[in-house]
Amino acid sequence: MPIYEYESLEPKKGCRMCVRRFEEIQAVNSTPLSVCPGCGRPIRRIISACHSAVMEVSPEYARVADKIAGYEREGMWSHAAELADKHSEHTKDPSLKNRALEDYKKAGYSLDTLEKHSTSKDD
Ligand SMILES: [Zn+2]
Repeated sequence: MPIYEYESLEPKKGCRMCVRRFEEIQAVNSTPLSVCPGCGRPIRRIISACHSAVMEVSPEYARVADKIAGYEREGMWSHAAELADKHSEHTKDPSLKNRALEDYKKAGYSLDTLEKHSTSKDD
């Protein structure tokens, strides 16, 4: 289960628990806390940089990876490759780039053609 971070809306009035940020382990689908379990004052959930980065990337990544897998299942290698390629540039994900290259090869492109392809594409 993920750890969520909370902070008091009125930190100066907070109890020992919420005077600083504190963490709660909660199920993903559980309702966020709105009051401090210690003193009952209003708190809010903080989406930390780390958590939000993961959350921003993963649903999109999962969606794209799913789509790529779908193309691969149907043998639409060039579609899969282009999508993986495009997305790897976007996410700087080297594993996706490798997948794109694999799919390009399966689509019948040679690596030479690919390099030409990618340089001309940048013009
Ligand atoms: Zn409190």
